[in-house]
Amino acid sequence: MHYTGPVYRHPLEANTPILEITYGCSWNKCNFCNMYHGVRFGVSPIEHIREDLEELSQFYPKNLSKITVANGDPLALPTKRLLEISDLIQEYFPKIYAISCQSSIRNIKRKPQEELNQLYEAKYDDIYIGIESGSDKVLKLLNKGHSSQQAYETLEKLENAKIRYISLLMGGAGGKEYSTEHVLETARILNAYPPKMISIITTGIVSGTKLAEMQEKGEFVQLTEREIIQEEIELIKHLEVPENVYFFGHHNNNVAKVSGHLKDKDKIIEKFENKLEKLPDNILDSCIKREYL
Ligand code: SF4
Repeated sequence: MHYTGPVYRHPLEANTPILEITYGCSWNKCNFCNMYHGVRFGVSPIEHIREDLEELSQFYPKNLSKITVANGDPLALPTKRLLEISDLIQEYFPKIYAISCQSSIRNIKRKPQEELNQLYEAKYDDIYIGIESGSDKVLKLLNKGHSSQQAYETLEKLENAKIRYISLLMGGAGGKEYSTEHVLETARILNAYPPKMISIITTGIVSGTKLAEMQEKGEFVQLTEREIIQEEIELIKHLEVPENVYFFGHHNNNVAKVSGHLKDKDKIIEKFENKLEKLPDNILDSCIKREYL
């Protein structure tokens, strides 16, 4: 397989094969992220994609239903190229119902509605989108490369195209200063455009990132683990999304690993509250060092 640099996927996609169609990140400037530092963004040649599909077809059944295209942000590719890749995938796996990937708002917002409709027809679905926060102040602090207005407009287009997406959020991304705004504005965007799943990860301050520099200078004050859990409880309290939306909080970075369907909102809150009662104070009142996102 042609894998260039580190390859990431959501924990829930652990059994989904990964096909590299781009590598690195075309933005690579988010203040908290070091995922693709040192990997220059590039586009996989079509011959490599074909060779990799050939290889995958030896290990996965012809009726494979889902595949992940990677790396950082494949939707940076022109739609024409993505349609060509979808045709190729379906040549090898004709029963594919979802071509999943990670994406930023930046890349999807550039695509007109008509192109997103075409991508849906071509089976692009279950897109993991780095929403991170609904607050403009937090998005600016993170240097995410999109505004909340652009996120609203992009999600509207995805909804019109019927493409399902997973909203990736960052707990504690606003630090102490913007914690309340982060919760309220994030709940607002989730309520306006409910995703298939909400996936939350505690913000790690990774060495070598701009966010680590900001923390050193006192420009970003990290939340304690207790405050992170309290933020999550507040977020869930403010959610008014359909009952079948899933809340995934089992990422490795999270001290309190809690997941469940939001129809059981009270149970999820109760589980978080139990964590606050049971976890030792020395953990809850600290900021655990995380060396990855
Ligand atoms: S968070 Fe995503 S968009 Fe931002 S630099 Fe990292 S890979 Fe790129």
